[in-house]
Parts: sequence; C-alpha cells; structure tokens
Amino acid sequence: MIRIDKNRCDLCGTCISVCPVDCIEMTETELSIDEIVCIDCDACVKICPFAALSTIGKE
Ligand code: SF4
Ligand code: SF4
Repeated sequence: MIRIDKNRCDLCGTCISVCPVDCIEMTETELSIDEIVCIDCDACVKICPFAALSTIGKE
C-alpha cells in the first residue's frame, strides 16, 4: 500500500509515467492511487523527486 504525502506532492506526474499498471490518477489538486489495482512495485516511490510517496505495511 502506498501512502501519499499531499504536502510534498508537487503534482508533477512523474509517478504516473512509471506505474506499470496505470493505477495512479491525478486531478488539478490531488493525486490518488487505486489500491486494488496497485501491485506495490515501488516504482513510484523510487522515482518521486519530492519523496511524497512511501510504502506502508511492508518493510
Ligand atoms: S512523482 Fe511525486 S510529486 Fe510527482 S505527482 Fe507523483 S507523488 Fe506527486
Ligand atoms: S507501487 Fe507500482 S503499481 Fe503501485 S502505484 Fe506505485 S508504480 Fe503503480
């Protein structure tokens, strides 16, 4: 499960471009992740330039 820190997210869209299952959505004001579709690959966590994403429930 991926946690989004909305205070850090700059809505740059970089994470969307790397998600293999296309489960990240972005509006003008908010980013959201479909947790049902997400496979916890961590690609978005690693690529985010603002460290706005983190994995929870997994070490
Ligand atoms: S890469 Fe990071 S800052 Fe950019 S939209 Fe995704 S979560 Fe937000
Ligand atoms: S962990 Fe992987 S599948 Fe889940 S939102 Fe991030 S890039 Fe997409």
